[in-house]
Amino acid sequence: MPVTVVAARPPAAEVQAEKYRFIVNLTDPVFRGFHHGRKKHDDDLEAMLERARAAGVKSMIITGGSLHESKEALELAQQLGFYATVGCHPTRSAQFDQFRGGPERYLEELDKVIAANLTGKGRVVAVGECGLDYDRTHFAPAEVQRRHFRSQLALAKKYHLPLFLHSRAAHKDFVQILREEGFDKDGGKAVGGKGGVVHSFTGTVQEAAELMDMGFHIGLNGCSLKTAENLATAKSIRPEWIMLETALNALYFPPGTKPEAFVYGRPVKGRNEPTAIGGVAWVVHKLNDGVPFEKVTEKAWKNTVELFGLAELR
Ligand SMILES: [Zn+2]
Repeated sequence: MPVTVVAARPPAAEVQAEKYRFIVNLTDPVFRGFHHGRKKHDDDLEAMLERARAAGVKSMIITGGSLHESKEALELAQQLGFYATVGCHPTRSAQFDQFRGGPERYLEELDKVIAANLTGKGRVVAVGECGLDYDRTHFAPAEVQRRHFRSQLALAKKYHLPLFLHSRAAHKDFVQILREEGFDKDGGKAVGGKGGVVHSFTGTVQEAAELMDMGFHIGLNGCSLKTAENLATAKSIRPEWIMLETALNALYFPPGTKPEAFVYGRPVKGRNEPTAIGGVAWVVHKLNDGVPFEKVTEKAWKNTVELFGLAELR
């Protein structure tokens, strides 16, 4: 399962502990030892959580990528006292049509899962991950993705939940659907919406500006910091709209072993660890001359707590 980290503090020798806080987003089966569907090593979720805590991760938002995964995300969130999202990822959106009873029934099931988990520890804090991914239409054709992205927006309006959004090589259609469904400004407040975050953002400066103007946060992770164009975009994110995710020094990026050479307590190569969130914060701090590191982490922390309604973390 993918995890969105609620960012935390970097425990480098020169920084004081407790100073930085993060919220992470995490739902990857790789933390249970599964790589590409095959069990390659022992479940080391506990060790990963320990490393995350050491890096200042205070809480996590566990992302659901399908009906089944959303239920798993909730179960894990309830076990660990974290939070979860409920929704269907664009690359999994063919599941709507394949579902017994059809797409309406699938949406109804997502609706039921949300309705049953709106309060307390392990609650649903967002609808998603949903959106469009035109880089991976081999999993679900664009038309299928569009249909089921649109249908999930109704859940966000109905439950006044923020959206956890995914957009890849699909910006034009992505914003068009959001606009048509009433999310054209203030994050869709007029239709019951509560904004959201476009996670792992890899778009242009202009695309980011359009989304911020519509009232959406921009989530940055390692994927968002790979090219010069990416960095220009990251630099352009206004502080009130910035959010940090796991992605990319030995604390934030502990050296990993290959899945086959797994050692309990050590990170595994190819996985994206929650500890990495501090590294993302560091890059953003470096891009914005003169903005102290803790300002970046505190702003992202506040934005996350506020957007997802994590009042108890305040
Ligand atoms: Zn995504």
